Amino acid sequence: MLIVDAHEDIAYNVIVHGRDYTLSAQETRAREAGDARTLAETGTCMLGLPEWLAGRVGIIFGTLFTMPAHYKSSGEGAQEFTYTTPREAYAQAMQQFDLYARLADENPRFALVRTERELNAVLATWKDDAPDAERKRQIGLVMLMEGADPIVKPRDVERWYERGLRIVGPAWLAGTRYAGGNAAPGPLTDEGMRLLRAMLDFNLVLDVSHLSDQACLQALDRYDGPVIASHSNPRSLVPGPRQLSNDMLKALLAHDGIVGIVPMNSMLRSDWRRGGRKDAVGVDAVAAAIDFVCQMAGDARHVGLGTDMDGGFGAESTPAELDTVADLGKVADALKARGYARVDVEAILSDNWLRLLRRSLP
Ligand SMILES: [Zn+2]
Repeated sequence: MLIVDAHEDIAYNVIVHGRDYTLSAQETRAREAGDARTLAETGTCMLGLPEWLAGRVGIIFGTLFTMPAHYKSSGEGAQEFTYTTPREAYAQAMQQFDLYARLADENPRFALVRTERELNAVLATWKDDAPDAERKRQIGLVMLMEGADPIVKPRDVERWYERGLRIVGPAWLAGTRYAGGNAAPGPLTDEGMRLLRAMLDFNLVLDVSHLSDQACLQALDRYDGPVIASHSNPRSLVPGPRQLSNDMLKALLAHDGIVGIVPMNSMLRSDWRRGGRKDAVGVDAVAAAIDFVCQMAGDARHVGLGTDMDGGFGAESTPAELDTVADLGKVADALKARGYARVDVEAILSDNWLRLLRRSLP
């Protein structure tokens, strides 16, 4: 079985924290031992090429993630990697885009996935019947923009699309000039509505993760293209604006959307706080969040994984059974233990996201 992960901040971590994801997570951990800033900001590394390969994580939605300075200034961290103007956001997102392109250029293990043809080429490398199949496997990277301020004007969507951007989340926590975010409530702005119209011209996927409740419901009401929440859990399980309310989930499901569940303890258990015990949460909590969406949808076709691993948290903040991304198969075991049929487990771990890509890629 192949696994698709709908959210990993790969480029941001390479640029801001100097990570080299061609190394194993274990090697990165050894390099970062004693690096208090990195450990405080991103935690113990969970990602690396050997782990993606071992875990059969063949398709990843890799983010172009930029952080507004007004948010960052309230915490610790490197001010040079934040933006104050759309131009700066654009430059930072382009730097991340170039990084993915270079990774795919220089390392045959990585490939950009911009078209259905490129998707199929990567999937073909995971067929196990070839004699030297293991040496040929590739990680396919689908470009996802998290926070749309780097799109300087809505009409620039066309140029981003030509570069290969396929998924856009209009806002991050702090909100953008397009929409309110989880930590900055507000509507979809006029500019945001123009952004959605421009996205629809190219059948881009709308990612509602991090949109404020109001902006999320407005966007789902207006957008006729494919929709997802790349990394969001149900609010019924853990209260708080970062999670999806039942109304937001229902609106997403009504649009045949897909939710990526995040295996982060504080988004799985309301009483878990950063610094809490890793083993206080088990991988069954991930299955429970998946099951919640399945029960609401009435099927197993609208949920998957969007792990966000290394996205501001590390191995100490994920369920006991998950040490690195190579352990994601244990989510499949937890679903089977709950009685999920093999076909449904495969839908959740890969096929639902693949169906979305086939529907949206040119
Ligand atoms: Zn995020």
